[in-house]
Amino acid sequence: MFYFDSFLGKKVLKSTLLDGIDHFFTTREFPLTYADREDLKEEAEQNRKKLTEEFKIKALKTAKQTHSDHIQIVKENQDFYDDTDALISNIENSAMILNFADCTPIILYSYKDNAGALVHAGWRGTEKEIVYKTVLKMEKELNVEPKNLTAVIGPAIGIECFEVSEEVFNKLIKPDYPENTYKIKDGKFFCDLKQINKFQIESSGVVKIDRTNYCTSCMSDIFFSYRKENGKTARHSSILKIRG
Ligand SMILES: [Zn+2]
Repeated sequence: MFYFDSFLGKKVLKSTLLDGIDHFFTTREFPLTYADREDLKEEAEQNRKKLTEEFKIKALKTAKQTHSDHIQIVKENQDFYDDTDALISNIENSAMILNFADCTPIILYSYKDNAGALVHAGWRGTEKEIVYKTVLKMEKELNVEPKNLTAVIGPAIGIECFEVSEEVFNKLIKPDYPENTYKIKDGKFFCDLKQINKFQIESSGVVKIDRTNYCTSCMSDIFFSYRKENGKTARHSSILKIRG
């Protein structure tokens, strides 16, 4: 179940499935990156500083997101990962951040293994099944069994607001995808990114899944929305800290 909580006095979104673990999705109240909103630069830098102080870390591990299916297991001595859309960590006390404005943010975590991941899945990453590949990589390289993973799917653009071209629709919707992942109405094509990612997560063997219904476009007073704001927007973030 999702609920709004307060972090350093600012509104953040959390899931009860990750109780006891430092994690959240930020809102407009707490930007950690400014993207195309230069006016938020100073505030974002201040917030980042406060967050690292609160977490007692030097830096957040992060990536240059490129809508790829490139997945990195983070290293102790490296904070930045180029051309990467999913980060995995099993380093105690390390914290990761990825940034979003309509794309699907996913947090994966295993209490048993104390290992987790952040995934960025827009339509291109979703088409490439990046979340499915991240679960497999955690199993193959860190011995994290999918059944021990919890998956939390955060705020992203909802089906009603995500009309796509027929070309994108045909790339994104695979023949085995269930009917609740898309809608065709009056010759228009709509896709449900959160639901498609949920289906991929289920297909990978993960059973503990929390998925918010929040649409970033409908709720652009709370979250940043690339579509609603015509690209001129900042980003909200997903945050996960690995237990010490
Ligand atoms: Zn919407």
